[in-house]
Amino acid sequence: MYRSVIDAIGNTPLIRLRRASEETGCEILGKAEFMNPGQSVKDRAALFIIRDAEKKGLLRPGGLIVEGTAGNTGIGLTVVGKALGYRTVIVIPDTQSQEKKDALRLLGAELIEVPAVPYKNPNNYVKVSGRLAEQLAKTSESGAIWANQFDNIANRKGHVETTAQEIWRDTDGKVDGFVCAVGTGGTLAGIAEGLKAKSNAVKIALADPLGAALHSFYTEGVLKSEGSSITEGIGQGRITANLEGFDPDFSYQIPDEEALPIIFHLVQEEGLCLGGSSGINIAGAIRLARELGPGHTIVTVLCDYGTRYQSKLFNPKFLRGKNLPVPDWMERTPDIAV
Ligand code: PMP
Repeated sequence: MYRSVIDAIGNTPLIRLRRASEETGCEILGKAEFMNPGQSVKDRAALFIIRDAEKKGLLRPGGLIVEGTAGNTGIGLTVVGKALGYRTVIVIPDTQSQEKKDALRLLGAELIEVPAVPYKNPNNYVKVSGRLAEQLAKTSESGAIWANQFDNIANRKGHVETTAQEIWRDTDGKVDGFVCAVGTGGTLAGIAEGLKAKSNAVKIALADPLGAALHSFYTEGVLKSEGSSITEGIGQGRITANLEGFDPDFSYQIPDEEALPIIFHLVQEEGLCLGGSSGINIAGAIRLARELGPGHTIVTVLCDYGTRYQSKLFNPKFLRGKNLPVPDWMERTPDIAV
């Protein structure tokens, strides 16, 4: 029995991805982070950030947690916050999916939508949330913290201490490679740190979507970005505190045209309904498998569940508007007459 929803965070299973494994001759395993109570990988960061603030004496019962987020961290903070008696104020760019915004409102977050502008703009959602936290800390009697997931390394620590350990345990130490995309970098840098501490032979790769600047940084030493992606929650333009000291063995830039067919195949043929960032991750795992050759075990992260993006990723009209191919099954009418 779990004492609360918090105990249900983590210990997610590794699921073998059939076609990716068969095509590469490797075992490609996805860590099913959509099975966390907030339905994403960000529950772990949320829990570690809140516990860290409690240890530092920054939060008291009824206290406020303020954060700028593409959605999943806000959902994680709100789920954990409700279980522990804290309230959340979430600042989200208006470009994020309606489903995530609805989930945040449903869970009881105070939701503030702001126009999506680049990080260097003072009205960027991360900066707005930082200023708001500062203001609220002055007026809230129970205290207010800024979760600051990008530069708060409690996020990375959560993955060193939990996700990496689970991957090592559940593969009996036979993991040869790990790959994933970066939003804050907590997942990739944390799992890399945890696995490298177990064995320096484990290869680590970054899977970067178009429009992010990290691939060019890790291959050419300069932060520059080109193109765009419909994926959400990933695609970083700077070296966050969570990424400091991190250096991948390999780096791949993955276009949506490579990632989306993987997502479409998995939902139709393997019973796995995933969000877009998982597609970037699995495409990265396939590239790493080809790099290392057959017979290796490669792990990646299945970050969140696909229903969170039904109005976008699985919507023919949306896909066409972005000049992305629409699979036939998405518009098929039932061929069984009654
Ligand atoms: N995928 C999704 C859907 C996310 O919301 C996030 C978090 N922003 C990530 C991947 C990336 O995780 P991290 O912040 O640990 O880099």
